[in-house]
Amino acid sequence: MTTGRAVTCDVWDLARRRACIEGELALGDMRRLSGQLADTAGALRYRMSGMIDERGRPAARLEVRGPVQVRCDRCGGAVQMGIDEQARFYFVADEDELGRLPIDDAPEEPLLGSRRFDVGSLVEEQAILALPISPRHDECAGASAATDRGPDGGTQRPFAALASLKKLRR
Ligand SMILES: [Zn+2]
Repeated sequence: MTTGRAVTCDVWDLARRRACIEGELALGDMRRLSGQLADTAGALRYRMSGMIDERGRPAARLEVRGPVQVRCDRCGGAVQMGIDEQARFYFVADEDELGRLPIDDAPEEPLLGSRRFDVGSLVEEQAILALPISPRHDECAGASAATDRGPDGGTQRPFAALASLKKLRR
């Protein structure tokens, strides 16, 4: 089965050549992501740069950027935010090896490498991880919002809210 829009690459080759692939993925083509958005128009830019990391492993850095609209938890309206994520990965050759790796808190995450690695899915996953768990407007428009401010007083800390939108998960 092919989707026609799938972005794949040979991660072994990408790492060895320290090459980079980049492009745009339409939000509407990423079903799991767009299901969590208020608007599926637009696209995310991605850039995956191959490398051999300091431990000699085939690795890559992925950057994902773009504006999205999530839904406000208080009023249900659209909240504009920017995704700006960077993550490091290294690649292992088979499932067994992946399963044997100890879980540590190193910033690089191991992934099962492939000659037809699904870059599109990885981009989508990173974008989903970047979404806030409970997005909210600093100040909701409309009457229903005024009665439901939340425990922290809503509008008292606009910059804190902005910061939490910007720095999402890590
Ligand atoms: Zn709201």
